[in-house]
Amino acid sequence: MPKTKLRVFFFLVPAAVMLISWGKFGHEHINRATVMALPMPIQTFYYNHIDYITQESNEPDIRKYTMSDTAEYPRHFIHLEALGNLDTVPKSPAAALKQYDRKFFIRHGMLPWAIEDMMAKLTDAFKRKHKTDILFLSADLAHYIGDAYMPLHVSINHNGTLTNAKGAHSLFESQLPEVFGETYNYNVGSKVKYVTDVQAETWRILLASLKSADTLLRVDRDLMKNLPQDKIYVLDAAGNIKTNEYNEPIHTYGYCKLYHDGLKGMVERQLRAAIATSASFWYTAWVNAGKPDLSDIDKKELTTRNAPSLAQERALYKKGKLFGLKADKEF
Ligand SMILES: [Zn+2]
Repeated sequence: MPKTKLRVFFFLVPAAVMLISWGKFGHEHINRATVMALPMPIQTFYYNHIDYITQESNEPDIRKYTMSDTAEYPRHFIHLEALGNLDTVPKSPAAALKQYDRKFFIRHGMLPWAIEDMMAKLTDAFKRKHKTDILFLSADLAHYIGDAYMPLHVSINHNGTLTNAKGAHSLFESQLPEVFGETYNYNVGSKVKYVTDVQAETWRILLASLKSADTLLRVDRDLMKNLPQDKIYVLDAAGNIKTNEYNEPIHTYGYCKLYHDGLKGMVERQLRAAIATSASFWYTAWVNAGKPDLSDIDKKELTTRNAPSLAQERALYKKGKLFGLKADKEF
């Protein structure tokens, strides 16, 4: 990327750009588990492309960071506190575009409208039975739904800086899932449903996430009050706080454990809810498109070849686990 372009990009977007959403671990688990949570017959189609859907889960963040795509950036968050009275906020993408300008979206995000917009596009892709569009839009939609369930993506206090809890964002969405996520149960059972009102459901999720944002920051703040710095952060030989690739502080295992216990299952709950919602939204788009037959989109041989793996992964998923996803642990 040319230097001048890079400078313009960082000038345009606030500090939140350096924060990743759910990290690689979280987004990959959400997307892969979403395929496993689907009902038949659409699961068979999606399973043929489960590796693409899993890898593509990180694409929206990659577009946001490395491709300096400023149109992408605001789709990942919303500052609900900046919208004023939420009863009168424009709920549809068209109404939001009328009321707010580009500067507002860059500053405060456009996550709810991005989700509704993606739903419309995915429904259309199903109607056209356009394979690459269905897969690309589904993967992206599950990413944005994942972001909606990351509590700090809906609050103006997105990194805890307003309440002196620097690093809270990265700790919650990356370090905790990487350290404890392999113990979680990703099987959301029968929670996948047709969603009658996608817009109302999207706003309900965001408001619930905002409440969780307050809780997770409070738990972090209360814990930090009583602990010395070396019990909270990993320090280098010179006593400085070690940071990750996003320049966010790395917390000690002991602190992660205390914090994770203090959150009483919130990380797992949010990830599971993101899976159930993503599967419900994909399913809803397919139903709203008139339940097109997807069995002839792929070659029969591909579906036949994948049948044994699907059966194996379904058995694994029953126990709450997924094939081949591992965490990059900091320690
Ligand atoms: Zn994101």
